[in-house]
Amino acid sequence: MKSVSPRTHNITLIPGDGIGPEVTAATVSILEAAGRATGCSFHWHRFDAGADAFAKTGEYIPQALYDSITQNKVALKGPVTTPIGQGFSSINVTLRKRFDLYTNFRPVKTLPGLKTNYPNIDLIIFRENTEGLYSGLEVMIQPDIAQSLKIITAKGSTRIARAAFEHACRHGRKKIHAIHKANIMKLTDGLFLRCCKAVAAEFPEIVYAEHIVDNACMQLVLNPYQYDILLTENLYGDILSDLCSAFVGGLGLVPGANIGADAAIFEAVHGSAPDIAGQDKANPTALLQSAVLMLHHIGEADAAGLIQKALEHVYAEGKTLTRDVGGSAGTRAFGEAILAAMQP
Ligand code: NAD
Repeated sequence: MKSVSPRTHNITLIPGDGIGPEVTAATVSILEAAGRATGCSFHWHRFDAGADAFAKTGEYIPQALYDSITQNKVALKGPVTTPIGQGFSSINVTLRKRFDLYTNFRPVKTLPGLKTNYPNIDLIIFRENTEGLYSGLEVMIQPDIAQSLKIITAKGSTRIARAAFEHACRHGRKKIHAIHKANIMKLTDGLFLRCCKAVAAEFPEIVYAEHIVDNACMQLVLNPYQYDILLTENLYGDILSDLCSAFVGGLGLVPGANIGADAAIFEAVHGSAPDIAGQDKANPTALLQSAVLMLHHIGEADAAGLIQKALEHVYAEGKTLTRDVGGSAGTRAFGEAILAAMQP
């Protein structure tokens, strides 16, 4: 009988720094096991980025890393530390802009068995990922006056709104709230809202509403169940992502996908967590769930399903959880529990 060669996926892998290498190691071993069980495999193209890359290559983002993402079109990325108030520009923002990854998709869903103050959360954040206050256009006008430019375009606003509405239609979601501050930023946020409204008119089956961002923060904490999909500019989406992560157990859990027309980078919402780095304390769930999104993106639904089922089993059982969600297991032990749960 003719043997069928396994499907091999070329994936750019950026373990990152801080807790990045730990959560990446756990995630990669789980992906490889899921691949073996479902007939696919991964060829990892591994790169440093940020300070580690600079120390080795003299570049914060080596050209070879750009080339690898261009070629593979898919990357799995751990967090990369960005110096605060000085130093090099964010690697994350640079990559998102360079590959025009305009959709930041962040599903926030409660895992079974996990006790939180807000049970059964199922929210999605669609965050514009390439402009707004993350345009990186800052200047010192005078030694004591700094200016940051907020860029909002009709193109950028329309395409993120369209991504949210199309997703809602495809997945049976009912409601989209555009989050804004157009009472104060009448031109920029006003343009964002006009674009959202225009796209909403094409999707009459989806309920469309608008909330001012400060009110939205209060409404979320009071009653997150009133929301379904949050459609936001760059900065508001980033802040609301961390806020919403608290509903489902914290930053250790929430995955993300940065998606453009030609490439996609999958990464957790959380950062490099220097306070727990190198201590075998980090929860790899957020990166693992990002990897599950990646598997769906590359057409490996069986591997995605296998991991998701194992993850839900480990959470439902509640015996081997990391400290951030009330357990006492380390990163490695948690990863091993997932591997064990994937065994037939
Ligand atoms: P953070 O997300 O790194 O950490 C915030 C808190 O959440 C910390 O208490 C941390 O211990 C906890 N936490 C985060 N991830 C966790 C996990 N997987 N398991 C358990 N606990 C976890 O945010 P921060 O401290 O504000 O940022 C640290 C660095 O990360 C900064 O340099 C920032 O620029 C960078 N950052 C990078 C990304 C990215 O690479 N995409 C995203 C956000 C922040």
